[in-house]
Order: sequence, then C-alpha cells, then structure tokens
Amino acid sequence: ALEQEEFEIHYQAKVGINNQVNGLEALIRWKSCFDGAISPQEFIPVAEKSGRIMAISRWVISHVFRDFQAIQKMSDTPIIVSLNLSAYDVSDEKLVPFIITQLQLYSVNPPLVEFEITESAYLDNFDKADTFFSQIRQLGFLIALDDFGTGYSSMSYLTRLDINTLKIDRAFISQMLLNQQDKIIVQSTIQLAHNLGLEVTAEGIEDASLIGDLNRLGCERGQGFYFCKPIPVEELSGWLALHDRRLLASAGV
Ligand code: C2E
Ligand code: MG
Ligand code: MG
Repeated sequence: ALEQEEFEIHYQAKVGINNQVNGLEALIRWKSCFDGAISPQEFIPVAEKSGRIMAISRWVISHVFRDFQAIQKMSDTPIIVSLNLSAYDVSDEKLVPFIITQLQLYSVNPPLVEFEITESAYLDNFDKADTFFSQIRQLGFLIALDDFGTGYSSMSYLTRLDINTLKIDRAFISQMLLNQQDKIIVQSTIQLAHNLGLEVTAEGIEDASLIGDLNRLGCERGQGFYFCKPIPVEELSGWLALHDRRLLASAGV
C-alpha cells in the first residue's frame, strides 16, 4: 500500500464546549486496488504483527505534519491536530529523531500536535513508553490516552503517566443516555481527570442529546459522527466554513 500510494489520511473534527472546532484527529484510510476500503482496525494489527507498522507510522507522521500549516490557515483559532501511535512505535528508538526532522521540515508547532496512544499500549510497554513520551513532552507535543476505560483502568497508573488528555471510550459515551451506570462512569472519569489536571475528550458522539450533559459535566471536547465523519483534507475547509455558518445561524447572527 505504501509503494502503491494507497494510503490516505482523513480528519475528524473535535468540537469544544462553545461549539468551536478546536481539534482534528488524523485517521488512516487504505483503499486497496484489490479489496477496496480496508478498515485500520483490520490492517493495523496485521501491520503490527508483520513489523510493517513502523513504516506506516512514519508515513502518517510525515503526512500529518505536511498538512499542519494548511490546516492552521483554515481557522481563525489554533487547531490541535492529533495522530494515533501503535504500541510498537514507543519501542522504536529512531522514531523521535525522525519526528524532529519532520518537525523542522514542515515548521510544525509542537503544542498544537497531540499523539494518541491506547491505555494498554502505554501500560504494556510502560518503561519504553515512558522514555518515549518524556522525549515527546520535552519537544512540547501533547499526549492523549485513547479509548480510556477499555484497558486496565488502573487508577494508580494514571498518576504515573505524563499525559494531557483522557479520551473516554465510545462504549461509555454511547450508553450514557440509556444506562445510568455508564453516565456515572463518564461523570466520575471527567471529575477524576480534572482533579489530576487532565482535559477530557468524549469519543463517539452520535446524538445531539448527549452534548448538554457532556457540557454540564465540563468535558472539554467531543468527537463523533454527530459533528462530522472523518473527511479528506481537501474537504476540511468547506466543512469548517459550513460549521461556522451553522454556529452563527444558531446564535441568530
Ligand atoms: P481511535 O483512535 O479510537 O479512533 C476513533 C475511531 O472511531 C475511528 O475509527 C473513527 O472513525 C471512529 N468514530 C469516530 N466517531 C464515531 C462515532 O460517532 N461513532 C462510531 N461508531 N465510530 C466513530 P477508524 O478510523 O476506523 O479507526 C479505528 C482505530 O484504528 C482507531 O481508533 C485507531 O486505534 C486505529 N487507527 C486509525 N488510524 C490510525 C493510524 O494512523 N495509526 C495507528 N497506529 N492506528 C490508527
Ligand atoms: Mg485515536
Ligand atoms: Mg479512541
């Protein structure tokens, strides 16, 4: 796929309490000439097992860094661009030097770039992940713990991770309105995160009725099909302009 240039990056908006877009997550897409679209949930684990993931991660980092300046120009306010790393990336000693070269090449502003890693990928390789992410933090980048609640959920570990954001997994968010216990978990997770000085992103918002509760609970940003599906960079500025127009219309301007 790398050789045939079959990978693409799509971006999904993250929307803040004020309804403004304040982030985008980069998600890889593979359009195979043999099999059509293949989900990252299918091919990333295969790439990990076959040792190809490091090349893919480098491609994603380069690509997202290349898009970075164009994305910032699409908005009046700064946009944090997030990208996903695999468990294997944190053991790749040459990845940080690679990130530094790409950072300089594309004039990326590290405080506006966030690396997402799942809880289990971080904790399964704790020492290596910690070394990797402390270098990433020193460079000024942000770190988010992805799919929070589906892995260890060990509270003691949370105090040992040098991260900025918790992303609450879609499994809890999607059930919040139906199941009181899921709502309590979301509420408690947001409180816990804030007490630890972390921000919270809610994943998988598919329904407008979730937004009021999440705002009341102080969740900093949300992401989901209700706002926007992941879209190619070429469609982003059109979508952002449409979102702004809808905001103004709803404010009666
Ligand atoms: P993730 O990082 O947790 O990304 C969120 C996934 O949820 C994305 O699936 C996104 O399209 C989907 N999603 C977003 N909003 C909603 C919603 O409202 N409802 C539902 N049902 N789904 C929603 P996607 O793009 O298929 O990616 C799946 C996973 O594959 C990602 O989960 C991430 O773990 C991995 N992945 C994606 N891109 C990359 C990449 O560039 N590198 C690595 N290492 N992993 C990646
Ligand atoms: Mg993610
Ligand atoms: Mg996630």
